[in-house]
Amino acid sequence: MQIRKVGGRAYSDPDILSLIDESGGLLDPYSVVRQGVNSLLEQLENFEVTFNDAFQRVCVLASLAGLQVEPMNVAQAAQERRDAVLVYANGNGKKGVIFYNTNMPTPRVIFSIAHEIVHYFFPTSRVGARFRAICKEGSKGSRELEMLCHFGASELAMPSADFKRAVRRHGFGFASVDAIRQEFGTSFEACVYRMAETAPFPAAAGLLKFRRRLSEENAGGPTSGVLFPSKPRTIGAPARKYRRQSFYYSETYPPEFVMPWNKSLPETSCVYRAAKTRAIESAVEIVPLNGRDKFLACSIEAFAAPYQPDNADPEWPDVLFLLRVIEH
Ligand SMILES: [Zn+2]
Repeated sequence: MQIRKVGGRAYSDPDILSLIDESGGLLDPYSVVRQGVNSLLEQLENFEVTFNDAFQRVCVLASLAGLQVEPMNVAQAAQERRDAVLVYANGNGKKGVIFYNTNMPTPRVIFSIAHEIVHYFFPTSRVGARFRAICKEGSKGSRELEMLCHFGASELAMPSADFKRAVRRHGFGFASVDAIRQEFGTSFEACVYRMAETAPFPAAAGLLKFRRRLSEENAGGPTSGVLFPSKPRTIGAPARKYRRQSFYYSETYPPEFVMPWNKSLPETSCVYRAAKTRAIESAVEIVPLNGRDKFLACSIEAFAAPYQPDNADPEWPDVLFLLRVIEH
C-alpha cells in the first residue's frame, strides 16, 4: 500500500493520492477540497439571489459543479440505505447525476448531496474502487476519503462565515440549534458538530453510545459458547457505559484533549441524566482523559440525539454532547 505524507498527515486512499498527484504533489488534500468548495460558494454568491430553500440551494451548487440532482425511483429508494448516491456518466458531455433518497429526511438529504458533490472533486480510479471494495467499512483506510468529503460537505451546507454569524446572533448551545439549523436546512446533529468546529474558543461536540468496548462485546462469542455451552455470558461482563463514537472540535481546542475513540464518561456525568430526562442537561464537569493527571474542566451540555439508529438501546439512547473548555 502506498502512503504519502503531505501537510503533516499521511494518506493511503488511492483517490486521495491521485488528487495529490494532480496538484503536483504539493497541496494537501484538505486545501484542495477547501479551494473547490470556495470556488462553488463564490459562484453561488455571484447569482446575487439568496436561497431561502436549502434544498434548492444545494441543487444549484451541484449544477455549478456540473452535476444533475434527481430523485431515486420508488424501487431504488425502498432498497437504498444511503441518503444520496453519485453516478458518474459515461461521457456524452454530461458529468454525473446525484440520486437522492426520497424516503430520507430532507436535512439528511441536503447534507448528503453536498457530500456527493465533494466526492466528485476526486479523480476516480479503478484502483480506488477496488481499494474501497476490499476495505472494511469504517476502517481507517476507507475513512480518509469519507472524512475529507464530510469536511467539504459541512462547509458547502453550512459555510463557516455565515454559520459563525448565526451562532453569534442566536447564542452557543443546544437551545439555539433549532433556530440555526432552520437557516441552513441541516440536521440537529450536523448543526451541533458545526457549532463546535466553528467556535472561536476551545469547544468540542460529538456522539456517545451506551456500550462496552468492542473487544468486550466480542468476548464470549460463539467459540466459547461451544466449549462451555452452559456458561452464562453476562456474568462478569464489563458494564456498559457511554462511550465516544464521534468527536468534532474547534481550531483552538487543545489537541492533547481530543477524546479517544472508546473513551467512556463517568456515571456521574450529566450525559446519563440526559438519557433519562430526554431534556437538555448541563453541568460543569471535570472529565478524566488518557494519562493519570489529565483532566478537562468544561461546561458541558447533553441531549438524547433526535436521530436514533436501529441498534440504539431504547433505554439508553445515543446522546449528543457539546462542551466548552473552562480550563486545561
Ligand atoms: Zn462518501
